[in-house]
Amino acid sequence: MGLKVYINGKFYPKEDAKISVFDHGLLYGDGIFEGIRCYNGHIFKLNKHIDRLYNSAKAIALRIPLTKDELKDAVKATLETNNLNADSYIRLIVTRGIGKLGLDPFNCSESQIIIITDFIELYSKELYEKGLDAVIVPTIRNHSEALNPKIKSLNYLNNILAKIECINAGAAEGIMLNKDGYVAEGTGDNIFLIKGNKLITPPTCAGILVGITRNTVIELAAKEGMVVKEEQITRYDLYVADECFLTGTAVSIIPVVKIDGRAISSGQPGNITLNLLNKYQELTKQRSD
Ligand code: PMP
Repeated sequence: MGLKVYINGKFYPKEDAKISVFDHGLLYGDGIFEGIRCYNGHIFKLNKHIDRLYNSAKAIALRIPLTKDELKDAVKATLETNNLNADSYIRLIVTRGIGKLGLDPFNCSESQIIIITDFIELYSKELYEKGLDAVIVPTIRNHSEALNPKIKSLNYLNNILAKIECINAGAAEGIMLNKDGYVAEGTGDNIFLIKGNKLITPPTCAGILVGITRNTVIELAAKEGMVVKEEQITRYDLYVADECFLTGTAVSIIPVVKIDGRAISSGQPGNITLNLLNKYQELTKQRSD
């Protein structure tokens, strides 16, 4: 049986899962989304993803025509319909809906809810073991007062431009600075460094997506007795870090071993990073939210 996609309460075979070319999600990137992981049949941090989605909707004045519980049920039903009870990835999308060829979002029809379940592997197993090399890219992260990175919107061009720069530089991931020159985040992940006994990550005011994995890692590290700081990070801080890693729903935790040609410490994934990855993997096996 082929993959089925949820669109507005109905399931369609993958080939027939289509939305209008007049949807403002396509015309203007006007919409929001979440990337969610399902580990061994259990949806990891579902409530947190749903809360962030509704916050994104509020921020762009988009009405989601379902309650949070109804939407959670729709996500679960999509997994069940696809018999996905192992590890999988869920893409939950809400678009502005069908409208005219003008910006006005309020003449659009009801927003469209799309749920795709599939598998995702952003980086090879080898990169998790060896660590990846990153570059700091020229494109800065969106200014918070232009398009706040806290909104997980369908408009990802800022990140895509950065990704192009990182690919052109031959690196696996690009690190974006903010308008003040401080480190913000990766093109699709949050960043952490370890210096001495401290785990440091940029504060939310640095202009970042407030990652659910980021917050989970902060909690995990605190439980492990580490000193966790949300502090402004400079390029220099990254170069001289003892360890560095990226976090995200799709990637979980991946070590960074080189930045702009500088080896991070010995150029091998650090022990604290590997320990946190281990702890994170244990957590994903638990059936708690
Ligand atoms: N930053 C950006 C720009 C992202 O797109 C993502 C998600 N892919 C993240 C950070 C990580 O967020 P989360 O841990 O909630 O997946």
